[in-house]
Amino acid sequence: MASNTANPANHLPYFFGNITREEAEEYLMQGGLSDGLYLLRQSRNYLGGFALSLAHGRKVHHYTIERELSGSYAIAGGKSHASPAELINYHSEEADGLICLLRKPFNRPPGVEPKTGPFEDLKENLIREYVKQTWNLQGHALEQAIISQKPQLEKLIATTAHEKMPWFHGRISREESEHRILMGSRNNGKFLIRERDSNGSYALCLLNDGKVLHYRIDRDKTGKLSIPDGKRFDTLWQLVEHYSYKPDGLLRVLTIPCPQLGSENEGLQSHPATHTLPRSWAGGGIISRLKSYTFPKAGSKKLQTTIGHPPDEAPFNPYVLQRRRGLPGAEKGGQREALPMDTEVYESPYADPDEMKPKNVTLDRNLLTLEEGELGSGNFGTVKKGFYKMKKGAKPVAVKILKNESNDPAIKDELLREANVMQQLDNPYIVRMIGICEAEAWMLVMEMAELGPLNKFLQKNRHVTEKNITELVHQVSMGMKYLEENNFVHRDLAARNVLLVTQHYAKISDFGLSKALNADENYYKAQSHGKWPVKWYAPECMNFYKFSSKSDVWSFGVLMWEAFSYGQKPYKGMKGGEVAQMIERGERMERPEVCPTEVYDLMKLCWTYSVDDRPGFVAVEMRLRNYYYDISH
Ligand code: AMP
Repeated sequence: MASNTANPANHLPYFFGNITREEAEEYLMQGGLSDGLYLLRQSRNYLGGFALSLAHGRKVHHYTIERELSGSYAIAGGKSHASPAELINYHSEEADGLICLLRKPFNRPPGVEPKTGPFEDLKENLIREYVKQTWNLQGHALEQAIISQKPQLEKLIATTAHEKMPWFHGRISREESEHRILMGSRNNGKFLIRERDSNGSYALCLLNDGKVLHYRIDRDKTGKLSIPDGKRFDTLWQLVEHYSYKPDGLLRVLTIPCPQLGSENEGLQSHPATHTLPRSWAGGGIISRLKSYTFPKAGSKKLQTTIGHPPDEAPFNPYVLQRRRGLPGAEKGGQREALPMDTEVYESPYADPDEMKPKNVTLDRNLLTLEEGELGSGNFGTVKKGFYKMKKGAKPVAVKILKNESNDPAIKDELLREANVMQQLDNPYIVRMIGICEAEAWMLVMEMAELGPLNKFLQKNRHVTEKNITELVHQVSMGMKYLEENNFVHRDLAARNVLLVTQHYAKISDFGLSKALNADENYYKAQSHGKWPVKWYAPECMNFYKFSSKSDVWSFGVLMWEAFSYGQKPYKGMKGGEVAQMIERGERMERPEVCPTEVYDLMKLCWTYSVDDRPGFVAVEMRLRNYYYDISH
């Protein structure tokens, strides 16, 4: 059984299914556009999500309803509800951010059923399976990968998912395809698809009255697939979906996928009920059967992290992985960009069951080699590149080395405190500590983020696109959401403390000022003013020395400003005191030139004066996620 095929809104009379924004506006117009008239539809951007269309002031406003990881539903940044219906009921009584209350549902006219989006549920399952199998991930790491890379994964799935379909038989001869179709049941409409060559052309083989018909499927210059003179499709599975609804030029509709020899599907021959192609893929038992197949592995599982800084469109781009040969797809030049999961630092090295995590985090100096030259430095000492020998080979590491610690025990304490915080964190978007080493000096050994601080990277790489920056700051918000959930305050969140593993993978670093909060407190109170990054600090930090995740949100606003300004300094030319006065006057930094208004609105929200009115990272991450998915589609 497919796990989540029932749409939780299908029973609602005002649910229209997978209609477009324009169709929704059309319906509400038919309904008179009175204030508070609304309908619900399936989100076309977000898997498993919905959209609420609400009339007010003769205009229609659209709100995205996200399905959260926990399975609940929320309008971006708003309260969570168990079902779409509960959310609608709630907003009939509370506007809570909507332009007005939901007053009157616009119900489907008689005879109109919710429109089904053929791939929604299937896609969600496919993405999950794909990530699980390709990168061997589970649990939190799996969820984080899906959230941060959904647009890229959808694209990957669209071009490779057919390989998991029971009807896809790969490169077999015409004769072999006939042999396979004629074996076992000979129901009309039984079919398979085979690969004809590696240029992306296929053949659809269809059983009709005991004879196998072969239809060519060609790929045109734009990558679209079609049977000669037929409708064009982006993917094979959309094509199969279409011809299983209507013959549209074929002799008959597709009915039963021909099972593959040696696959578990072979056994399905004896269970006619389970191998009828469902009217909608989303509704059938296809998904559970998919699980017995194995996805092709990505070109190479882990990407070396030693890579340079080429522009996005460079002819040779070491950021991108060689895509599997012979896989037709939408990727430019036959390659795809490296995803965070392709790198060595996506999961902790200690996630590997063969790798023992050292007790009390001390590392063996003999297993650590240091290279000449520095990655960076500070008043504590220097950061050097090195290698730490682990079970699966030498891992590139960054090593923070204390200068002559005997002179200043405070510096050593600070390093140990930092190590203590880092030891407790494990998230793909946070630099992990490998351990601590006491030898010729105290050393903090961390994962390597080769491309260095975000601000410097952007200063040198002006070609980086808005979408790319959005992707990176969204990842930072995911890491911060994790810190917030775990009651850590960072207290030094700034673009200089975001390190890049690749141009598409950011990690939060520098936990020198961070604090773990006790369960009963939601802020940290500093005893006195220190050497503080005041331009990144919220008013309550400056005025009351109070630090919380909400004050990290303020800093995150400044970080976004820095990122969209390509690494410029915030409040340029101003002194700390002047900045504080400016904030107290209610003034904020201007929108950076290339910053989209959606992101600038979010920055300003992060710079909400009152802590209570300022959003937390749950809401901030959701807003950025939605915006990122929006611009990626
Ligand atoms: P920090 O004092 O922790 O900000 O480190 C100083 C500088 O060292 C940073 O700005 C980076 O250039 C470099 N650095 C620190 N940690 C790492 C790391 N994990 N990977 C690569 N470079 C690092």
